Amino acid sequence: MAETVDVAVVGAGLAGLVAARRLHDAGLHVVVYEAADDVGGRVRTDEVDGFLLDRGFQVLCPGYPALAAEFDVPALHLRPFTRGLGVFRGEKLHRLKPGLTAPGAVPGGLLPLGDAIAVAGLAVRDALGSDRQLKRRADRTTLEELIEAGMTPAGVDRLLRPFLSGVFLEDRLDTSGRFFHLMWRTFLRGGAAVPAQGMRALPRQLAAGLPDVRVGALVTRITSEGLVVAGVGAVRAAAVVVATDADTAADLLPGLRRPGWHGVTTFYHDAGPAPLDEALLLVDAEDRLVRNTVVLSAAAAGYAPAGHSLVATSVLDTDTSLPELERLVRDRLSVLYDTVTGSWRLLGAYRIPRALPAMTAPHPLRRLVRFDQRRYVCGDHRDTSSIQGALVSGRRTAQLVLRDLRGQLAGTASHEVNARGWR
Ligand SMILES: Cc1cc2nc3c(=O)[nH]c(=O)nc-3n(C[C@H](O)[C@H](O)[C@H](O)COP(=O)(O)OP(=O)(O)OC[C@H]3O[C@@H](n4cnc5c(N)ncnc54)[C@H](O)[C@@H]3O)c2cc1C
Repeated sequence: MAETVDVAVVGAGLAGLVAARRLHDAGLHVVVYEAADDVGGRVRTDEVDGFLLDRGFQVLCPGYPALAAEFDVPALHLRPFTRGLGVFRGEKLHRLKPGLTAPGAVPGGLLPLGDAIAVAGLAVRDALGSDRQLKRRADRTTLEELIEAGMTPAGVDRLLRPFLSGVFLEDRLDTSGRFFHLMWRTFLRGGAAVPAQGMRALPRQLAAGLPDVRVGALVTRITSEGLVVAGVGAVRAAAVVVATDADTAADLLPGLRRPGWHGVTTFYHDAGPAPLDEALLLVDAEDRLVRNTVVLSAAAAGYAPAGHSLVATSVLDTDTSLPELERLVRDRLSVLYDTVTGSWRLLGAYRIPRALPAMTAPHPLRRLVRFDQRRYVCGDHRDTSSIQGALVSGRRTAQLVLRDLRGQLAGTASHEVNARGWR
């Protein structure tokens, strides 16, 4: 006989885990079905020779509004990066403060005066701005926002394109300008950090609060009664939450939109003694290969064994073969860190073509999460392509499922679905 649960959640990424935990905490019988061999989805960490390698360099922003609501933050033991940014241009490293203001940048040749003033104005406006007002504004591309803020195209090319392309994983800067401001505010509020024991700490903490997470459980079909798990069979559920990536969600629930993807490749090197004694994110504004690089172990010592250092370097999606790309990256790192990199040991290379769902402007910051009367969809592609977006979409979905199920019990359910809106 088919197993029966209250809510079946498909996918144990951050969105699915948040939804499941909230539904479990509300007293429902929840089972999470995860196709991979561990929880985390795009947030996982491998251990290699005593190093911690996140599956693609990524950071957690302590300023994410959803963080405190979903996590025991002190238990993550966050290790902050150095605030600000290092920008390499004109054969030297310019150190910028948070907000990318730089007293020495104008005479140092990084930015024309007008652009430096525009960047400072942007920081002040975003530090004081209200998120609610921003969300009500019409959207346009990030590039249009920067030009409107007074930057010149040359100024954008010298600073913000090199930096933001490593955040958005695209360099046209056609990503939603509203998302840019939200992200900018988050950086200004709290900078960036990683958990002491790797990004995997995030899904692990969420999963620890759940009694029934089944890994190696590939969901092949969503049915009118529930779902089908490969090799297991049918499961009946009062509600099904599809918390996979956008493409799989569209396979399981035909009709959902498929956003494009932005990809990235991250190389991890053991540099021996650290080439820089602080975790300052370096951006290359002179050459378009390396989007960012950082001595990760300078932020979180646990990422490397004693006597070693871990350098993470990311480049945008490309067709170049990994060995060739690594050779080019290693050469460029010797310029950026002003040291010989020939002896650095490659620990891992992660090529991730589907890292972030594209958020090309105009981009709605929220999409509906109820698909039909008993099926729901959550994930970063329903909110914003970020950890914050995944957490919020999981929370929104859990709240809606709870409301609907309680409504059904009370006999007052109203499953009005906006047939256009949910896409
Ligand atoms: C390299 C990289 C860098 C990033 N950098 C940052 C950053 O610096 N800051 C930031 O905020 N965000 C960053 N992100 C984005 C962030 O990691 C994601 O937005 C977020 O983790 C998405 O979570 P999710 O739960 O929506 O989806 P996912 O993590 O994709 O989870 C979906 C889960 O569903 C499972 N699944 C799929 N199909 C099935 C099936 N048929 N049956 C069962 N299970 C299935 C998958 O295995 C997966 O576990 C980055 C992402 C990557 C990859």
